[in-house]
Amino acid sequence: MSAQKNNPSGTLAAAADGITRRDFLDGVAIAIGGAASGAFLPRFVAAAVAEEAAAQDAAGYYPPTLTGLRGSYPGSFETAHALRDADFWPRAGAIAATGEDYDLVVVGGGISGLAAAHFYRARRPDARILILDNHDDVGGHAKRNEFALAGRLALMNGGTYSIDSPRPYSAIADGLLRTLGVDPAALTKKCADEKFYAAHGLARGIFFDRETFGADKLVMARKGAAWRDILAGAPLSDKACDDIVRIEEGKTDYFPGLSSAEKKARLARMSYRDFLRDVVKADPAALAVYQARSHGEWGVGADAVSALDVWAFDFPGFQGLKLEPGPAPHMGYTAAGYADGGSYTFHFPDGNASLVRLLVRNLIPESLPGTSAEDVVTARLDYARLDHAEAPVRIRLNATAVRVRHGGDAASANEVEIVYAQGGGLSSVRARACVLACYNMIIPYLCPELPERQKEALHYASKIPLIYTSVALRNWQAFKDLGIAHVYAPGSYFSSLALNEVVDIGGYASARSPDQPVLLHLVRVPVAPGLPEREQHRIGRRDILATSFETYERNIRDQLDRILGPGGFDAARDITAITVNRWPHGYAYEYNPLFDPDWPPGEAPHVVGRARFGRITIANSDAAAAAYTDSAIDQAHRAVQELF
Ligand SMILES: Cc1cc2nc3c(=O)[nH]c(=O)nc-3n(C[C@H](O)[C@H](O)[C@H](O)COP(=O)(O)OP(=O)(O)OC[C@H]3O[C@@H](n4cnc5c(N)ncnc54)[C@H](O)[C@@H]3O)c2cc1C
Repeated sequence: MSAQKNNPSGTLAAAADGITRRDFLDGVAIAIGGAASGAFLPRFVAAAVAEEAAAQDAAGYYPPTLTGLRGSYPGSFETAHALRDADFWPRAGAIAATGEDYDLVVVGGGISGLAAAHFYRARRPDARILILDNHDDVGGHAKRNEFALAGRLALMNGGTYSIDSPRPYSAIADGLLRTLGVDPAALTKKCADEKFYAAHGLARGIFFDRETFGADKLVMARKGAAWRDILAGAPLSDKACDDIVRIEEGKTDYFPGLSSAEKKARLARMSYRDFLRDVVKADPAALAVYQARSHGEWGVGADAVSALDVWAFDFPGFQGLKLEPGPAPHMGYTAAGYADGGSYTFHFPDGNASLVRLLVRNLIPESLPGTSAEDVVTARLDYARLDHAEAPVRIRLNATAVRVRHGGDAASANEVEIVYAQGGGLSSVRARACVLACYNMIIPYLCPELPERQKEALHYASKIPLIYTSVALRNWQAFKDLGIAHVYAPGSYFSSLALNEVVDIGGYASARSPDQPVLLHLVRVPVAPGLPEREQHRIGRRDILATSFETYERNIRDQLDRILGPGGFDAARDITAITVNRWPHGYAYEYNPLFDPDWPPGEAPHVVGRARFGRITIANSDAAAAAYTDSAIDQAHRAVQELF
């Protein structure tokens, strides 16, 4: 988790102008005279993915190694946007009937869609299932970023990272993990080396940027160090330092005389920024330090997240209030839930892309060799096996569903027609039933005959935008020399950066020596502080799609040079590849007590929106209003059970 304020594309242009631009090709450094350190895997030509829809069968098709703009990459979302803008059907050509007939078609090949296929087959083992996804790779948010660095496989999550949840996993979600052979507790013990960087003396740092704080300065926040010592070198006034110390030590009861319940009720309706500014009376520079801290978890800054929600996540400032432990009612979770709530913390080197690949192996065994949750990490997925006519389960990529319609009246129809766009053409398939495991916001355009109230509810909860960037570095010597592994940069373009966590699993080994190439993870959350949350997300989504790869690259170079330069880092020399995973439709929207009403039971938009419609049911984490893998799985299960 981490953060920073919005810094729209181009605002760092002046600073970045001085950067000598090396030759980058969609994020991969071109090796000149053998100088580049990354011995990259052969790269599938991106243009071929865009132009040739059936490319998933082509030799060499392997999207995980693609760099440059990924996530919602150019070419993946335009059809859906044309549908939204009522610009699709007027220009659409004829629909070619494939003649394919399935028991189930799933729209959306993320964890929820794949889990839906799994649960359906658990009820009907002989079922024939087609899964459609608009992306060139399977997994939805749970994407794999794969690099070969100096001949070594290096993996990072392009999106969904950890098998965690603020709530205990349900028996359903837990059962699926076990079916896939994933025992998070055992894997953590066996494979994760969570203390690796700390054992190397690397701590967390805070980077103060000159645009926000007046001077560039990296300070170390070593565990256990006194905050006054941590802030000694920070470009902050004495008042700002005193306020941060007061917030971190949190000895004050700011609401004396109120009960815990009364205090919580106040905090639930007050933003964290307002709490710090109006109750704690913190200096503006201290507020700037905390503004971006909530970005990583909530996708908005301190101005738009409730004080009670961040209290539940152990944010500082509340200790003196002596609040009764327990969940923040709106979000239903608590920091204590992380400690003993029965959830997990394990992550695979490619995040939950390994869960995706385990699900794919479960559905289409011949596509991925191996038998265990450990060997899946290095196994190579054979994309040419994903959509085979003889296989009972097929995954069709580069295919955007544009219409899902009953053959007749929804209440009595015995089949559904699904039309999808692929490679410039339109095709149709038929099925006994359809699970929509795609984003809620597109469903009204796919099924315009849904009841108006349901469509309105589906529109309500648009997803939260954010960007995860994977940057390949020649080595991590500068981190070692500076003594940092993670940096929170509250004023910078990317609000956090972190060295790849060390996990050795199956045949996969993480970099352990500072002279080895490594991957760095950077997070950017585009926000518009001061506006209501959903308005900020609308602006952020536009910002993400309007920002060029070059702007991301320049900001990465500028930021890394300024933070790591004192440790000898040189972006022009030390960055060897960049993958920018753009997620304009990222986290599922979770309600915000500052802006959303308290709906009566059963009336919240996600509940109204996920109602079964004839032979069509609705999955995806949107249907839970909870941006977590266990929710995606639980919703898949519900959507499938509704069909029987
Ligand atoms: C950057 C990021 C980090 C995250 N980290 C975590 C984490 O650490 N832990 C955690 O539990 N959760 C995390 N999440 C939340 C994550 O959303 C869920 O865990 C889970 O991956 C969601 O799965 P899903 O199948 O519900 O949705 P998605 O992964 O969004 O899958 C839906 C798929 O449907 C496709 N689709 C949409 N419309 C159409 C159409 N018309 N036709 C065809 N296909 C369509 C989409 O493109 C997408 O591929 C993260 C999310 C993001 C964005």
